[in-house]
Amino acid sequence: MTDVSARYREIQLRIAAAALEAGRSASEVTLVCVSKTIHHGAIRPMLDLGHQAFGENRVQEAKSKWPALLAAFANTQLHLIGPLQSNKAAEAIGLFSSIHSLDRESLALALAKELERTDWAVELFVQVNTGLEPQKSGIAPAETLAFVDRCRSALKLPVIGLMCIPPADEEPSVHFAMLAKLAREAGLSKLSMGMSGDFETAIAFGATHIRVGSALFGARPAH
Ligand SMILES: *Cc1c(COP(=O)(O)O)cnc(C)c1O
Repeated sequence: MTDVSARYREIQLRIAAAALEAGRSASEVTLVCVSKTIHHGAIRPMLDLGHQAFGENRVQEAKSKWPALLAAFANTQLHLIGPLQSNKAAEAIGLFSSIHSLDRESLALALAKELERTDWAVELFVQVNTGLEPQKSGIAPAETLAFVDRCRSALKLPVIGLMCIPPADEEPSVHFAMLAKLAREAGLSKLSMGMSGDFETAIAFGATHIRVGSALFGARPAH
């Protein structure tokens, strides 16, 4: 077994154990393998193992790496987990099947415009800035319900859930609990939360999509 396939097995076992502990089914949890900065040659073994959900945080990088892989592995779903500039919305069409970073009004408007003129089957998560961190994007918790309602009712956007990235130096469970509560209040069933360091906690709080990079592919070079 290569390193990555051994780590993949281990993560799957940890997901199963965390789900069991939480009284949930592991099949409710989608593992999004975060392949940002990872060369396509190193992603390929994951595709060969049959994994289908991957996450990238930059449109440009995804466009350079993924079209050939998507052509070869037709059931792959690519998730955009990083910021999307409104004027790049058109470039995300067809490439991504989910966007986890719907974080502002102007992007909601841009996506609504693209969805009006294409039959792009995309699913959206509203990113919530649960820690109100100035350097992080996302909708403030107090504004989330109104924003979700406007996206769904006025703009007819296919919003299916909420996403958060807890502050690095805080107990993540507080943020996961807040996101789960907001999703319940908004009538949304999907929760994108949990990364390499805290995905088991996220599963305990109801995560349906965990975004795992370094625990699978190894540490990324610092930037
Ligand atoms: C990089 C990234 C991840 C994965 O982080 P790891 O700690 O490497 O698992 C998850 N979510 C987002 C939004 C990211 O940018």
